[in-house]
Amino acid sequence: MHLGNVYAALMSWLSARSRGGEWLLRIEDLDPQRSKAEFARLIEDDLCWLGLDWDEGGLDNRGSAGPYSQSLRGEFYLAALERLESSGLTYPCFCTRADIMATQAPHESDGRIVYAGTCRHRTDRPDRSGATRLMVPDRDIHFTDRFYGPQSVNLARHCGDFVLRRADGAWAYQLAVVVDDALMGVTEVMRGADLLLSSAQQIYLYDLLGQQVPQFAHLPLMCNPAGQRLAKRDASLSMACLRENFTAPEIIGRLAAAVGLIPEPEPCRPAELIAGFEHFRPQSLAAVTVNPAEWVR
Ligand SMILES: [Zn+2]
Repeated sequence: MHLGNVYAALMSWLSARSRGGEWLLRIEDLDPQRSKAEFARLIEDDLCWLGLDWDEGGLDNRGSAGPYSQSLRGEFYLAALERLESSGLTYPCFCTRADIMATQAPHESDGRIVYAGTCRHRTDRPDRSGATRLMVPDRDIHFTDRFYGPQSVNLARHCGDFVLRRADGAWAYQLAVVVDDALMGVTEVMRGADLLLSSAQQIYLYDLLGQQVPQFAHLPLMCNPAGQRLAKRDASLSMACLRENFTAPEIIGRLAAAVGLIPEPEPCRPAELIAGFEHFRPQSLAAVTVNPAEWVR
């Protein structure tokens, strides 16, 4: 984890606690290359150290809607995929990344790749496995984000037909989180604003699967003074470095001040921030700026 992950975790923890809800920890380990059990253990250790306790989920599968690691939930994703397939809403896609870039139409989106639907009407069947895509209609999805307010996203123009299962068999994030959130009874999803557009795709999936859509709350991304999203290059903001230099209450207090939860970066515990959180609004919807140089000792 780095400070950006701690920010998202703290805010969603506070939201759950301020509304008398429960906080769920799901291990999103769909990508076999990037996921190792030891990473999940490190995340759990960091969360505990910071004082961010969870009521359900985690590696020990606390709760009744487990397992809570996505790598163990393939049967649920398969059931949802089969339901969508039997409705005739999916098709195999054999495009390579290069194919998709070559057919890239001008789009109004945020720089993401909008698939042109090349394989929708394909009649030949290449002798290799394809990805499974969901056909999306030319339809506007409307929803109200807790912080960003009313949103309108056109599925065809802004999203395009999207992948449910990759050619290598790996499940796509969009399908997995919708299936999981529905089965786990998630009522609020709080995450970075980079996923605001994904919410439209997910709402469409909730509808197709006959599930209740949760409340979405997107957070302005945490950026360095150059306007870049925090990443590995900001090494001082990794939890490993932060834990060497600061106590947990110092990190929480500095983070809370950067976000605007408290006026001054005084050490505090997460529980001390619950009371005022229900009325919290981001200071700016553009970004939360954090200077990595101020996080060293
Ligand atoms: Zn294709």
